[in-house]
Amino acid sequence: MVNSDSFTLILKDKMGFSPMGETSIFVLMNEGDIVEFYNPVLGYDFNLPSGTYIIFGADMHCLPNPVDFPLNAVPDNELRIEGDATVFFGDVEGTAYIDRKLMEIHIDSSTWDGIGLAERDYILRHEIAHLSFNTETYCDLLAENEMLEMGYNPSQIVTASDYLLRCKAGNIERAEMSNNRMKKHAR
Ligand SMILES: [Zn+2]
Repeated sequence: MVNSDSFTLILKDKMGFSPMGETSIFVLMNEGDIVEFYNPVLGYDFNLPSGTYIIFGADMHCLPNPVDFPLNAVPDNELRIEGDATVFFGDVEGTAYIDRKLMEIHIDSSTWDGIGLAERDYILRHEIAHLSFNTETYCDLLAENEMLEMGYNPSQIVTASDYLLRCKAGNIERAEMSNNRMKKHAR
């Protein structure tokens, strides 16, 4: 897969980038072989989480510092148990759920196998957030905050929440809310 148009990027910490000139979609592949597509937007700095990446067709300028996007305000009126949960993969209806009594997160393996890194992190962070909150929207807020801190660009987060939420009628409103939250980070 690796050709002369690609290069390897090893990031010990999240790193900031800025798209330059005429940008085209570039493909990130991390060391776990998860393929990510990213459509850079001019005037919209972004980060990558730490890791090793093979990058194809990139047209970007490295920023001296990571981009620290402001985090969502998260309500504190619903705080629940804290602890470590174990993740299980299998046949799960509706992508994922958490059993807080057993501290088990169950994720649908066929969904998991077909999605990228950002979508996987959104699912995982959302389910872990259910250790703190019942309210779905609050869990979305927490998932987004963690992803921003890890180094994801708001537009990567929107792409993930859109993909995961918009396909289910009951979740379209959550997708819209996520979209509006991340939109305010555009510069
Ligand atoms: Zn949930």
